[in-house]
Amino acid sequence: MNFRVNRRRRLYEGKAKVLFEGPEPGTLVQYFKDDATADKGARKGIVTGKGVLNNRISEYLMVKLGEIGVPTHFMRRLNMREQLIRKVEIIPVVLVVRNSVAGSLATRLGMEEGTALPRSIVEFYYKKKELDDPMVSDEHITAFGWASPYEIDEMMSLALRVNDYLSGLFLGIGIKLIDFRLEFGRLWDNDEMYIVLADEISPDNCRLWDIKTNEKMDRDRFRLDLGKVAEAYQEVARRLGIMPENLPSDVSEKTYEIAR
Ligand code: UDP
Repeated sequence: MNFRVNRRRRLYEGKAKVLFEGPEPGTLVQYFKDDATADKGARKGIVTGKGVLNNRISEYLMVKLGEIGVPTHFMRRLNMREQLIRKVEIIPVVLVVRNSVAGSLATRLGMEEGTALPRSIVEFYYKKKELDDPMVSDEHITAFGWASPYEIDEMMSLALRVNDYLSGLFLGIGIKLIDFRLEFGRLWDNDEMYIVLADEISPDNCRLWDIKTNEKMDRDRFRLDLGKVAEAYQEVARRLGIMPENLPSDVSEKTYEIAR
């Protein structure tokens, strides 16, 4: 029996994380799995050590963002795979910030991957798994009441602050922040509501390219079947100076697909 997994009530299981009831009211435990997915979940795999690395990388980046005044749901890391977070009401709007062309933007507009954008672009997506998170505009968001105009402004300004900070941080370690995806939640303090950064920030939801070689150091390595997935995540952690101890040294050997 796995004691750690069974001792708490499981509230939600996603592609790469599980949320458990936290030890105190208003808290949750976020558990990072090694599972990787591509092609809208049609291709699945295990990247051994990914959960440990994402837990550590996301902790590091959330703490740094907290230090520059970006409120986040992160409280503290509990162990190799778990972190304690504040329970928030997730806003069903996902923000993608882009600095260079990649992924769906390249496909949609027929632009070459890697082209620098004239300025950072923020896009909104409706968080709805069954619909594969369709792109929406602020008109849809306010018309359907997913978020208020104030909340949209707040999420936009936080996303741009996160982008400025993370772009500089990654540049300093020879990595280009191509794009990333953010989720936000509502947190109540008595009658005051404020918007905080939620979910995770890791190579699972950022595109990170080596500045010199343009080599991909993120989830695209799995999605595009480029190999060396765990090594790339490890390299991001290493450059950030937070390589976890006790990681199996042969992580890459265990990257395999379990279904197609
Ligand atoms: N992204 C993500 N989860 C998703 C889809 C996208 O974390 O389900 C991230 C992705 O890693 C990238 C950014 O959002 O950093 C923009 O992704 P894009 O719209 O280009 O879609 P994709 O090509 O990843 O399907």
